[in-house]
Amino acid sequence: AQARRRYAGRNPRSRERFEAAATALPGGNTRTVLYHPPFPLGIVRGDGCRIWDADGHEYINLVGEYTAGLYGHSHPVLLAAVRRALDGGVNLSGHTMVEGPFAAAIQRRFPSMELLRFTNSGTEANTLALATATLHTGRRKVLVFDGGYHGSVLSFHGGRGDPLNLPHEFVVATYNDPAAADLVDDDTAAVLVEPVLGSGGCIPGTAEFLSALRRAATRSHSLLIFDEVMTSRLSAGGRQAQLGIAPDLTTIGKYIGGGMSFGAFGGRRDVMERFDPTRPGAVAHPGTFNNNVLTMSAGLAGLTEVYTPEAAVALNARGDALRERLAALTAGLPVHVTGIGSMFAVHFTARPPTNAAEADRADPRLGELLFLDLLERGVHVARRGMVALSLAVGDAECDRFVAAVEAFLADRRD
Ligand code: PLP
Repeated sequence: AQARRRYAGRNPRSRERFEAAATALPGGNTRTVLYHPPFPLGIVRGDGCRIWDADGHEYINLVGEYTAGLYGHSHPVLLAAVRRALDGGVNLSGHTMVEGPFAAAIQRRFPSMELLRFTNSGTEANTLALATATLHTGRRKVLVFDGGYHGSVLSFHGGRGDPLNLPHEFVVATYNDPAAADLVDDDTAAVLVEPVLGSGGCIPGTAEFLSALRRAATRSHSLLIFDEVMTSRLSAGGRQAQLGIAPDLTTIGKYIGGGMSFGAFGGRRDVMERFDPTRPGAVAHPGTFNNNVLTMSAGLAGLTEVYTPEAAVALNARGDALRERLAALTAGLPVHVTGIGSMFAVHFTARPPTNAAEADRADPRLGELLFLDLLERGVHVARRGMVALSLAVGDAECDRFVAAVEAFLADRRD
């Protein structure tokens, strides 16, 4: 309560924004993930890895837009690409010269995506991937995992689906439990899984678990869908390249759109060819903004000029090093840092969680205290304790973050 009062006292303009917005947006909110009591910050500006709030406070942004902000706030290459696209006119009412090259750039990175299609969000990509899987297999059952988040209509916290979820026949299993593969049978259209449980706590899926799913899907002719909306940043070819597991379909989103609204789904040629309008019986997938030039241009420039394979190695090495420093700081304490490379999360648990139920055992008060305390020290992490590094985060920012966590821990010891 005291920490919330201090926060409210420091942020009167953010409170004003929140209250004014609530006249048109439910609870002043159009992105549930950003809400936290007593009210979230209003952010007025960003530059590189820094953001400023409505009350003039400056923060190092380690939220990284939940992995979508990989390029930072104002990467010059992306700015130039978007400006060129704007100068050429938006809403061109036809196929553009950028969508083909962008799709080809993604395909080179993710060879399992033999053919792909663009959408406007990760939610839409997963929605279409599941619809495609049920159509392709003629089956209805979909295996998903507790803590899995694939978009606001595909969310599985607490072992069940959320009220807004799509009406598939979902079976919810425990993440990282190889026995979950036994639930895949001849009625299963798809297994939808994040190779690292992202919003469920940055919990890596073990190779054993994910390989068991691969084998089970192959055996029963159901489609294995890797949701790489977050994990596509972990290497040039995403988590599937690191694991050497080829899913049947992959969904991507977030950073790959260069900071613009983006999603894509793709995979096996025989599955994706159903969308080929030159073939008899093709299925339709229109979408006004699927090929919008701002996303296509920013995404293409980002993948080909900025987030090169070498840049991906460097960013994720920075994340691994930072996670190790935090692990050293918290050694012996009931605090654990899980994740891979440039995405990780802090958990106030007795042991490192391996699934969502274990992560949910964390002390929520400590999580909130860390979040509010770091804000006061000028470091913004996600409310749930997640960090997603951007390319703009350098050594000095990592040092400041480690010092802030160290100071937080020291204050609690007193
Ligand atoms: N899949 C995963 C793994 C995600 O983390 C998210 C977003 O957080 C989504 C899908 C949904 O993407 P979007 O927010 O672009 O709809």
